[in-house]
Amino acid sequence: MRDNMTNQELADLIFPNINKTIEDYEEIYPERNLKEGAKVVRFAPSPTGFMHIGNMMSATINYVLAKSSGGVFYLRNEDTDQARSVEGAVEFIYHTLNHYGINPDEYEFDGNIVGNYGPYIQSERMEIYHTFIKHLISIGRAYPCFLSSDELNQIREYQAKSKKRIGIYGRYAKFRDVSNEEAAQRIRNGEKFTIRFRSEGDFNRKFIFEDLTKGKIEMPENDIDVPIMKSENLLPTYHFAHVVDDHLMRTTHVVRGEEWMSSVPLHFELFKAFGFKMPKYIHTSLILKKDGDIIRKISKRKDPEALMFYYEEKGYPAIAVIDAVLTIANSNFEEWRQNHADTPFYEFPFSPKKMSSSGALFDLDKLDNISKNYLAKMKAEELYENYLTWAEKYDEHVYELIHKYKSDTVSFLNIERESKKPRKDYENYSSIFSKIWYMYDEEWDRELHYDFGCIQDKDEIVRIVREYLHNYYCETDSEEEWFLKVKELCDKMNYASNMKEYKENPTKYKGNVADFTTAIRVVLTTSSMTPNLYDIMKILGSKRMLKRLEIFQEKY
Ligand code: GLU
Repeated sequence: MRDNMTNQELADLIFPNINKTIEDYEEIYPERNLKEGAKVVRFAPSPTGFMHIGNMMSATINYVLAKSSGGVFYLRNEDTDQARSVEGAVEFIYHTLNHYGINPDEYEFDGNIVGNYGPYIQSERMEIYHTFIKHLISIGRAYPCFLSSDELNQIREYQAKSKKRIGIYGRYAKFRDVSNEEAAQRIRNGEKFTIRFRSEGDFNRKFIFEDLTKGKIEMPENDIDVPIMKSENLLPTYHFAHVVDDHLMRTTHVVRGEEWMSSVPLHFELFKAFGFKMPKYIHTSLILKKDGDIIRKISKRKDPEALMFYYEEKGYPAIAVIDAVLTIANSNFEEWRQNHADTPFYEFPFSPKKMSSSGALFDLDKLDNISKNYLAKMKAEELYENYLTWAEKYDEHVYELIHKYKSDTVSFLNIERESKKPRKDYENYSSIFSKIWYMYDEEWDRELHYDFGCIQDKDEIVRIVREYLHNYYCETDSEEEWFLKVKELCDKMNYASNMKEYKENPTKYKGNVADFTTAIRVVLTTSSMTPNLYDIMKILGSKRMLKRLEIFQEKY
């Protein structure tokens, strides 16, 4: 067929209603007026699944890069794969960013656009994408392709079977060189089509690019004519849309998962086709976990800790999760944190070079340790308030109890807290109750398991505790007075109050002062290991302690 039709005419036929030009958009979204070195970064998740730990790592690094350079952190919703979109995913992204305090400077939510470079939801940017696609058609760098899905499947099967590279390139790009007349005729006949990029790359030539973390990378050039606009809904593909957006939103640095690394040659070609400057790239490593003896990629299906729900449900303080993520993101974060305990995390001088390029091992024990430290450093009141907020959402029973007994709970949480070396009992809010439940009388309804210490004879235990509570304990005693009395009774009942004497002659005694206090501890709490007994007794008070002795007697 003779080709009397120009590329521009074909572009007009496909997009008759697009009247804007690329230049118009360059004016609408001008270069940002930021100070030298300020980074413009984005978190650009697709709502095809719930926010996971890999997303969290990208978002946190982006935030740190923007804040530490006086730049901009924006959130872009990449929702062009609408068939795979998951209900609630977008809300969860906003919720999570907010929960961790990594709030974007520019975003769009609930119909509100904040920032001058929006819309920030890709499905609302159709006119922009069509303008840019129209431009590519008009300069001969994109074309309509009429391969049906059956034909595409056949090509893929053939390529797989004959071990050829998968994709539409070379002789598989059947519509790359048909005349504009023929293409126009097919379109007029109502044939379905996608728009493909017309690659000028050569797979046998090397493409070299510099990733800020992984260094110089050599890959073959792209030669695949990827689809840039889908036929069914005229939406652009990720590859195309993100190039347009990263350019128009004036992005300087892209932090994204390693899985996108292999697409860089294609992205480079797309940027080049428009004459745009490419942003700098940081491809984050895969997040790995230790599973028995093997180290493998963390899995959204198999590992609950892969999804961000996990950390909120378990009740880890937000800052502990952020620190854990930054610890695996940058090898010098831990040391920095030791020297800057109270500095906001976003002041950490993040260095892409210090990021592991082979994989980041995420370790829940490490998170527990980080979290224990944060929880130990909180004032009892603050810990209580955070715990209450957590329980309100995740544990009704706990919420009711700690709400009803606020004062006792705060006092208990305060035991051995305000000291140089505070106790580190709790790794997260969900683990607190198993360590404090015995402070609540209501819990004495359940089946009790007394964890005896050295003294196993229950009658002897009853004798000790009864004598002690009736004739020795006094609520107003100081800790010294309290201990003197314990020791006095100890001696009277032939338990050594002096450990040295006991060790020299153990057979002379029924036991020692530690065995003696353990007996009291077990009756009052069921546990042989608790925080300071004096404080626990002060919170419980005589009446409740006598009741617990009664219950102990009844049970045995
Ligand atoms: N929408 C892509 C994803 O969720 C983002 C990749 C990117 O940051 O460029 O994986």
